[in-house]
Amino acid sequence: MLENIDFREAQQLLLAQVSAIDTETCPLSCCGGRILAADLTASENIPPFDRSPYDGYALIAADTADASAQTPVTLRILEEVPAGAVPTQTVSTGTAVKILTGAPIPQGADMVCPYEHTEFTAETVTLFRAYAAGSNIVRAGEDVQKGAVLAKQGDLIDGGTAGTLSAQGIAAPCVYRRLRVGILSTGNEVIETEQPLAAGKIRNSNRHALEAILRSNGFEPVYLGLAQDDPNAISRLMQKGLETCDALLSTGGVSVGDYDFTPDAMERAGVHLLFRGVDLKPGMACAYGMKDGKLVCGLSGNPASSITNFYAIALPALRKMAGHRDPIPQEITLTLREGFSKKSPATRLLRGTLDLSDGTVGLRLPKEQGNVVLSSTIGCNAMAIVPAGSGKLEKNTILKGFLL
Ligand code: AMP
Ligand code: MG
Repeated sequence: MLENIDFREAQQLLLAQVSAIDTETCPLSCCGGRILAADLTASENIPPFDRSPYDGYALIAADTADASAQTPVTLRILEEVPAGAVPTQTVSTGTAVKILTGAPIPQGADMVCPYEHTEFTAETVTLFRAYAAGSNIVRAGEDVQKGAVLAKQGDLIDGGTAGTLSAQGIAAPCVYRRLRVGILSTGNEVIETEQPLAAGKIRNSNRHALEAILRSNGFEPVYLGLAQDDPNAISRLMQKGLETCDALLSTGGVSVGDYDFTPDAMERAGVHLLFRGVDLKPGMACAYGMKDGKLVCGLSGNPASSITNFYAIALPALRKMAGHRDPIPQEITLTLREGFSKKSPATRLLRGTLDLSDGTVGLRLPKEQGNVVLSSTIGCNAMAIVPAGSGKLEKNTILKGFLL
């Protein structure tokens, strides 16, 4: 088993172990945020027919060849075609069809003139300049060509994708099932939110922090319960979770103290341990393993450590399991808006909030970066990567980072 590895190596190790879960169909009305499980290929042109982008008159451009303010041309109106209707007449020399936005271009016409540029009565329309054939026609397939690949397997379904699926008549796209991630808390000192505080006890913040993060990533959190510092109790909860979940997150008991039983419990639950500890602050203490294709993440009890380690190492693997095509967050370049006075013997992840106010991508740092300071994670939406061996960081230091 590996120990104290680089967090990027840990990421890669897990990505090599996990694969995407199974798929299902999902009604279009609830598929926002789900992951496409098949390429979305257009089976139809959008728009399906040549149509008018304006309220106006469909006519033959050649009829306007000699038109000017001094020598206007008047055409006879054959009919009116509102959106949703189908033309019944063919436009021929000397005639026009009144057309409304979204209506199909009639046979014979090769352009549309917006009504603002004309004078008209119920029977006739008059034009005051020459137009080129093809003016003001939205062609069939201008938005989407039949056969085009519009989105790929592993893409998140956003508004544009959902709208395009509907335009293609796909009422229930194939998506990856929602990833079920079990959460278990450990620690003799931990009590649940509703319980009154007693001497020596603390409320279970990790459970809810992780539940919220899992939900905002489109996963389904499943709370498995709270185990005392006892390897059998922890292992029992893990085994229960492994029956129904795709992955597990536990917090607490992953260091090397007398009451740290999580790695032992993982092994008792049949989990094959891959590594213990990473060269990362906060979030150094951790234990990761696999059982039957399911990922088991033992995170620190310290709230900021568990969150940092989760984003850096667990989340990319969970995203791959959930079907994402690019599970590792994209690297960005950030400018620190404040200095950071501590040295970083190990790789450090500084949490903060993006600041785009001066036109550059900046990171505002909360006052505290400590591994127990959960309150300083509130509102954080990005992390900067401080390379191992760095000294004190001045304001305006430029670092690589990623969005949360
Ligand atoms: P451990 O990882 O078990 O050594 O715990 C490290 C610190 O995190 C201790 O101060 C624990 O009391 C605290 N802790 C453990 N579990 C939780 C939890 N679920 N919520 C909040 N704090 C916790
Ligand atoms: Mg503990």
